[in-house]
Amino acid sequence: MNKRNIAILGATGSIGTQALDVVRAFPELLEVSVLTGARNVALLIEQALEFRPKAVVITDESAYKTLKEALAGTNIRVLSGVDALVEVVTDPEIDVLLNAIVGAAGLKPTVVAIEHGKDIALANKETLVVAGELVMGLAEKHQVKMLPVDSEHSAIFQCLVGEEQNPIEKIYLTASGGPFRGKGRLDLMEVTKAQALLHPNWVMGAKITIDSASLMNKGLEVIEAKWLFDLEVDQIDVIVHPQSIVHSIVQFQDGSMKAQMGVPDMKLPIQNALTYPLRMQNSFERFDFLKYPTLTFEPADQETFRNLELAYSVLRAGGDRACVLNAANEIAVEAFLNDQISFLGMSDLIEATLCQQKMVKQPTLNDYIAIDQQTRLVARDLIDKI
Ligand code: NAD
Ligand code: MG
Repeated sequence: MNKRNIAILGATGSIGTQALDVVRAFPELLEVSVLTGARNVALLIEQALEFRPKAVVITDESAYKTLKEALAGTNIRVLSGVDALVEVVTDPEIDVLLNAIVGAAGLKPTVVAIEHGKDIALANKETLVVAGELVMGLAEKHQVKMLPVDSEHSAIFQCLVGEEQNPIEKIYLTASGGPFRGKGRLDLMEVTKAQALLHPNWVMGAKITIDSASLMNKGLEVIEAKWLFDLEVDQIDVIVHPQSIVHSIVQFQDGSMKAQMGVPDMKLPIQNALTYPLRMQNSFERFDFLKYPTLTFEPADQETFRNLELAYSVLRAGGDRACVLNAANEIAVEAFLNDQISFLGMSDLIEATLCQQKMVKQPTLNDYIAIDQQTRLVARDLIDKI
């Protein structure tokens, strides 16, 4: 494998920092060209001094001066603001964009990178939730690879290697069930953000942790899977597997199933995306069957966790509905974390926002960006009313 040049958007986050662990482990294969962060300027400075990228971006413009001063005397280009994210991914030297930003803000950089022929290692699932059909169409047009980082989609992707001729009958996305697995709506009326932020198996950014507790994460992943693997909605099932060892399953037309397994460690799918198609030797923890003698599976409780059902319904409705669901959810999570709405109130807010926003059938990229912004205003407005 030739050395790969990587741009990491969201380098200071949970996926970003783990991606840098992977880069550190394979210096002969992976090189970092771009690092970006939103606010944590101290960490971005530290990363820039260690990895010496060509450019760094801090999206929070008020932190520009601090970053610029700290990197004075190096030949690293220092930029700030959201538009800089789009600019830095076009560098001809970059082979792969690892998009590890959180939220719909990831869409535009992904699109621009695809248009410039970069392969995409995609952690930012919201890119495909908002505009999956458009983004996958562009990836095909520009002949770039979409390499999933999300563990479930990485699992499916790995199971499909060598199966190019064989149609998928069905996929099963596994879900841990989150911290509130087994609870009913009455139990969930009073839960606090501290409880929701305690994920049993994974340590992740705040937004995806809340999404995991509300099962919206699995809903977003159903949408992500539809576009990545070109499936009908009815071919995607969710199964709760609390141990998070089986990362997902593909069922073929002969009834045979392939699953990908391992300990829950995001470095594995990140490494897989960055070194694909190679499986490089590493020293991450190995799975021990005898430590987990019981792997269990149960149905997802869609009556308690209405977000999953909402995600299936927007996927069936098509058009801009998933974009609206995503934006409303981003506002709902933010409001929950700011103690403005309750845990169950998040689904109410998303549903109310979907009702208020008129359907747009075939949005363009600019439409999606405008709908995303408009939906945020509508959802913020509704917070006080529900
Ligand atoms: P995080 O909050 O830990 O990190 C997000 C990163 O993006 C940070 O570097 C932050 O500075 C930057 N950022 C945040 N908002 C931004 C904006 N508006 N513009 C530009 N930069 C911004 O999040 P995370 O847990 O690393 O998740 C990142 C993405 O990966 C999400 O889409 C998430 O769903 C997905 N993902 C994460 C995990 C995980 O284990 N953490 C697993 C699967 C998928
Ligand atoms: Mg996942």
